[in-house]
Formats: sequence, structure tokens, C-alpha cells
Amino acid sequence: MQAVDTLTPCPCGHIDGYARCCEPLHLGAAATTAEQLMRSRYSAYVLKREDYLLATWHSSTRPAHLKLAAQQPAPSWLGLTVKHHESNGDHAVVEFIARLRYGGGKAQRMHEVSRFVREDGRWYYLDGMFPDA
Ligand SMILES: [Zn+2]
Repeated sequence: MQAVDTLTPCPCGHIDGYARCCEPLHLGAAATTAEQLMRSRYSAYVLKREDYLLATWHSSTRPAHLKLAAQQPAPSWLGLTVKHHESNGDHAVVEFIARLRYGGGKAQRMHEVSRFVREDGRWYYLDGMFPDA
């Protein structure tokens, strides 16, 4: 099994690898763009970093917990495609498609348009819409 810090490409799909992509954010660096934050949140789902997901969730919409480890069947994350990123000052929208599979089920697509806000220089996930649902 590969050590997390040598994951190449990064779980978010970036060719640079985890240590140069999402790991610095997971360790506390501020994301430069909402897209970067979104990618790091996808990686956090892959790596079950619930602490990071909650820390980057805006306080107005943040759930109390995610219980990722208890999720049954557990999702396997298969890949991320960012379709669109648009920012206007401290507000941003990122549209993406994540592919995942629950247990032995067939692969499915999660198409989400997420909203982000920046406060005190940090981006936060606000909420998401699911255009295909
Ligand atoms: Zn990454």
C-alpha cells in the first residue's frame, strides 16, 4: 500500500501528487482559489479527513459531524472532473463531477454546483446544488 504522502497523482487527480497539491491545505495552508479548496475537499473525502471537511465548511451550513468512517456501504471515490470555476470577489461557484461507487455497486456520477465564500482570506464551502437530481 502506498503511503499517503507519496500519492501520485493526488487523490483529486492533479498530476503533481498529494504532497505538492492537497496535502499543504490539509495541513493548514489557505487555498488560493475556491477551485483549489474544492479539490482539497474531494481529496479529504477520499482520505476520510472529516476534520478538514468540517473546518472548510462555512459555519452557517456546517453539519455537526459527517461520520465518514461509519458510512455503509462505504463509497469508493473514482475521480474528479472540475467543469467550471467562476469567482467574483469573495464568492465563487465550482461545478464538478465526482465519480464514485458504493460497495460493490456500479459507478455513478455526482454532478454538483458548489458555492463558496471567502472570509478573512479563507475559502469555505457553503452549499451545493445537484442539477441532475
Ligand atoms: Zn490535490
